Amino acid sequence: MDFEYTPKVRQLQRQLQDFMDNYVVPNLPLWRREIGDGLEHPQCLEDLKALAREEGLWNLFLPGQGQGLSNLEYAPLAEIMGRVHWASEAFNCSAPDAGNMELLHMFASDEQRERWLQPLLDGKIRSCFAMSEPDVASSDATNIQISIRREGDEYVINGRKWFISGAAHPLCTFAIVMGVTDPNAEVHKRQSMVIVPFDTPGFKVVRNIEVMSHSFPGGHCELVFRDVRVPCSNLIHQEGAGFAIAQARLGPGRIHHCMRSIGQAELALELMCERAAERRTFGRYLHQHANIAEWIALSRMEIEQARLLVLKTAWMIDQHGARSALREIASIKVIVPRMQTTICDRAMQVFGAMGLSPDTPLAELWTWGRVLRIADGPDEVHLRTIARQEMDLAAERRGATLPYMNTPEFV
Ligand SMILES: Cc1cc2nc3c(=O)[nH]c(=O)nc-3n(C[C@H](O)[C@H](O)[C@H](O)COP(=O)(O)OP(=O)(O)OC[C@H]3O[C@@H](n4cnc5c(N)ncnc54)[C@H](O)[C@@H]3O)c2cc1C
Repeated sequence: MDFEYTPKVRQLQRQLQDFMDNYVVPNLPLWRREIGDGLEHPQCLEDLKALAREEGLWNLFLPGQGQGLSNLEYAPLAEIMGRVHWASEAFNCSAPDAGNMELLHMFASDEQRERWLQPLLDGKIRSCFAMSEPDVASSDATNIQISIRREGDEYVINGRKWFISGAAHPLCTFAIVMGVTDPNAEVHKRQSMVIVPFDTPGFKVVRNIEVMSHSFPGGHCELVFRDVRVPCSNLIHQEGAGFAIAQARLGPGRIHHCMRSIGQAELALELMCERAAERRTFGRYLHQHANIAEWIALSRMEIEQARLLVLKTAWMIDQHGARSALREIASIKVIVPRMQTTICDRAMQVFGAMGLSPDTPLAELWTWGRVLRIADGPDEVHLRTIARQEMDLAAERRGATLPYMNTPEFV
């Protein structure tokens, strides 16, 4: 087992860190001014995209594109980008586009690749992924009910989606929509995915939903589809494949979120340490109070534990594919957001009142961690996956623990 990053990754880490220090972080105030109420697309971001592309810091997440990195190689880079919540967009590595690009890369027709994938890869447009619905429990994807009915060589779509990230982004031009094409098919074969361009009549972004009183750029939106007609050529892969495609998409998407969260937790810990080193109560610096020293130590240990499991998961996906890493993907999806919210919470406590204000990024970092305990599947669904795998294993080796028992017949 080798825990060193390769020379190529170390070089990219330095290059990316320099880019963040020299261009992204100094642009934070300008970005805030230009984003306005969240619906403007900041010009400074377009400038950063052009610069990042020139430097080869582009599409780093997609194996075979850009620098041709594996998931394991991409992880420490995503961590660096994660420290500023919008920075991934400057490198064309942001959600939900990264997941959509992977999906189209794997399943799209040549025509779809040319029309939708290529402009996404070039950073000219953005996209969203529409699965969750207000009327059904969407953590169970078999519940999804928006109707995608075939009529001649068109699909007619009716229904509502919500919490669709990125749909309010001014560059967002299409949604990948999951819905029911055959209500009578076997439960995992009922759904399909179609591409819906935003300028299709009957399609509307009705509202951008605030999350914990935060409004995120690009938003998390409610969408309405009223007799929306798209050509059958907008079907991705084949009818009935929606569930399988969703599974393939969510694996890599989830691991990217976790990688960025590690960077956000690192930032929270750095802030906590700086504050603890400069603020004094009852005759000593905050870090000299035993409980705060313990929070700092626990936070360091928890980040290291989480990072190791994220790296192992990335390695497993690289070596054997996302299906082989289902348990690990589920595990990091639970562990990392919990770690992130715990560390942000400690940091907010160390900052006192200021930690709850917008003067630090802590409230936003905490909120993002909290979001990830629900978005891309709530904790309980991932815990269910892990427990089921564990019980399947237990069933396979049933009785193997008996010799370890101290019951009379074995003593
Ligand atoms: C900020 C944000 C961004 C999002 N972005 C997107 C997006 O871009 N595209 C998209 O399609 N969706 C998106 N979502 C939606 C998200 O994926 C869903 O909210 C999630 O899958 C849960 O579905 P639900 O809200 O319908 O909760 P429900 O399915 O109603 O579940 C409610 C609760 O029930 C509990 N529960 C569920 N199953 C079990 C179980 N097996 N055992 C025990 N308890 C259980 C859990 O505690 C869960 O939180 C986003 C959500 C948020 C908050």
